[in-house]
Amino acid sequence: MTVAIGIVGCAGRMGRMVIQEVLATEGCILAGGTEMSGGHIGSDLGSLVGMDPVGVSVGDDPHALFSSSDVVIDFTVPAATRLHAAAAEKTGTAYVVGTTGLAPDDQAVIDSAAQKVPTVQAPNFSVGVNLLFALTKQVAAKLGTDYDIEVLEMHHRHKVDAPSGTALGIGQAAAAGRDVPLDDVARYAREGQTGPRATGEIGFATLRGGGVIGDHTVMFSNEAERLEVTHKASSRGIFAGGAVRAALWLQGKDPGLYGMADVLGLD
Ligand code: NAD
Repeated sequence: MTVAIGIVGCAGRMGRMVIQEVLATEGCILAGGTEMSGGHIGSDLGSLVGMDPVGVSVGDDPHALFSSSDVVIDFTVPAATRLHAAAAEKTGTAYVVGTTGLAPDDQAVIDSAAQKVPTVQAPNFSVGVNLLFALTKQVAAKLGTDYDIEVLEMHHRHKVDAPSGTALGIGQAAAAGRDVPLDDVARYAREGQTGPRATGEIGFATLRGGGVIGDHTVMFSNEAERLEVTHKASSRGIFAGGAVRAALWLQGKDPGLYGMADVLGLD
């Protein structure tokens, strides 16, 4: 069976990587791509990534793309992702979403779609980062609250949300290991007279600069030692590869909201 994959936001940094990944992966074809109205509409998807034309051009109608795809991959912006999740629900099309910086209202639209269509959502599609999530949960469960947990991330200067979805995913894994809701213990930023660090807090620090694709470190520190686990992405291909793997995995699955741990068979 050949799986027809649609890509919304196909001219973005991630969208272009996903085009290349689909073209390089056996068992799938490009159903098409959409962009915001503007420069790229009508361009051939192959030409967009510097390859030979593939005879499929960029459109601006998400419903048409969802209707002609077996599964659609979405790395765009929250406002667009709301529209895309609604289109997935309306057309009954499987859906892979990687957009970060979603507000609770945006997430509610995805949750609603996932009741009708099989959906994979992940703050990070790389195998290494999903192992980092699993390790973080395990270490946090083993170490007591005399170990302070801090999450440090750095991304390129164009990133518009902070902390990154991946940093929040690490925080969620740490909180799950300690069996507390992240929102009860998270400290998303510090400035000025902060007072001493509260016991059990999970802290976040954000760096932005240059072309960094994505660096994340989780630290567990007590008075006597510090354990640090770091992941550094050196190509967006790891996210695109994971997203296409998720898209293929979704075929034949029941409706529901799945994560990369399900796709990769991690606990
Ligand atoms: P980008 O700005 O390069 O690309 C986003 C694209 O979406 C742009 O081309 C934009 O024109 C397009 N777009 C916006 N509104 C649209 C609409 N209504 N219809 C169609 N296209 C529309 O950004 P990026 O670096 O590719 O990142 C995109 C998102 O993916 C961000 O939220 C980022 O944090 C996230 N991301 C997630 C992962 C992951 O593994 N989950 C990895 C990398 C990036």
